Amino acid sequence: MRSHLKRITVATLATIAMALTGQLLGVGAATAAPAPAAVRVLYYDASQAAEFVTAVHQGAANWNARVGNVRLERWTAGHPVDIRVYADNNWPRAYVNSLGSGTVYMGRQATVEGHNPTRIAAHELGHILGLPDRRTGVCSELMSGSSAGTSCTSAFPNAQEITKVNSLFTSGALVTAGWRQDGA
Ligand SMILES: [Zn+2]
Repeated sequence: MRSHLKRITVATLATIAMALTGQLLGVGAATAAPAPAAVRVLYYDASQAAEFVTAVHQGAANWNARVGNVRLERWTAGHPVDIRVYADNNWPRAYVNSLGSGTVYMGRQATVEGHNPTRIAAHELGHILGLPDRRTGVCSELMSGSSAGTSCTSAFPNAQEITKVNSLFTSGALVTAGWRQDGA
C-alpha cells in the first residue's frame, strides 16, 4: 500500500512538473520569434588582383560593415568561388553572371588617372551585388563611380545602396547578366 501511494505521488509530481514546464516555456503557444533571414555568404578570390589585393579586401569589408543579408568572405579551399578579381591595364569593369556571382577587373587606367582604388573595388563589388551604374557625380554614392571625380575617395555604399542590396538578397532577385563597363 505504502509503495503504491509513493508511485502515485511520484507520477503526480511528474505530471505537475511537466505542466508547469510547459507553461513556463509557452509550449503550444505561438510565441516563437520568426527565424532571421539567412545571410548569403559570397566567396571572393582576390589572389589575382596584384597591387589591388588590399583595396579589394577593404572594399569587401566596407560592404560587410553596412549590409546584413549578404557577406563577402575571402575564398578559402573547399568553398566555391563566387567572385573572381583580376587586375589589368584597361578601365575597371565587372562581368555579372547573376546576383552575387561574377568577375571584377581592377583596371589600372582609373588609378593611373588618380581614382581611389578602394572606391573602385567597392564600386565593382557593388555591381556583383546587383547595383547598376548611376553617373550622377555625387561622391556619397558608390555607384556614381568615376563621375564623382578623382577627388572623391568615399568607398562606402550610401543608405539607398544599402537598402537596395539588402532588398535584392532578401528577394533573391534576378539581375541581367553582362558587362558593367566603367570609366572613359
Ligand atoms: Zn560601374
